[in-house]
Amino acid sequence: MRAAVFRGTFDIRVEQIPDASILEPTDAIIRITHACICDTDLWPYRGQGPYTPGWQIGHEWMGMVEDVGPDVRTLKRGDRVIAPYDFADGTCEFCRKGLDSASVQGGLWGFGHEGGQAEAIRARFADATLVVVPPSVEGDEALLKAILPVTDVMAAGHHAAVMAGVHPGDTAIVIGDGAVGLCGTLAARRLGAGRIVVLGHQP
Ligand SMILES: [Zn+2]
Repeated sequence: MRAAVFRGTFDIRVEQIPDASILEPTDAIIRITHACICDTDLWPYRGQGPYTPGWQIGHEWMGMVEDVGPDVRTLKRGDRVIAPYDFADGTCEFCRKGLDSASVQGGLWGFGHEGGQAEAIRARFADATLVVVPPSVEGDEALLKAILPVTDVMAAGHHAAVMAGVHPGDTAIVIGDGAVGLCGTLAARRLGAGRIVVLGHQP
């Protein structure tokens, strides 16, 4: 199958890699239909972060379940699933407390694990990690593209607005007008901000 592979600064290539396959009973194989490029991908692309040549890339993705391991209970072939930016085992102390980004066996897609900018992915801990998208959205491409940022960037913007304590009628100041800043702006509006001031360098 084809996948985006990091080869060095300003050098990400589409390469042929072994097909995704079930390795653990908790795995699922997902045929990727949509994937984003995140600013977190751009750091290594620009040479601003450690990323090992040969690693796959991409942690914001959605697709169709093609196969499931024998221990997968909540997903079935043909389901559309969306992934958070990281995978989590769902069984450790942290996961049980809702702190799944600190999962003992968890990790980020890409970063030495399977990446989402690919034709398919072996999704680890599929039950604990993946979320089924309601079938009613099938065929609505605009809506599918609109929910894709929930994988990471919109979740980050929403988290920022909630942590900032935005309430109806508030004035919200968003520092930065990149993807997360713009999602923070949307989130502040959604939470009812009366006035939103965005500081950034985009005209
Ligand atoms: Zn991201």
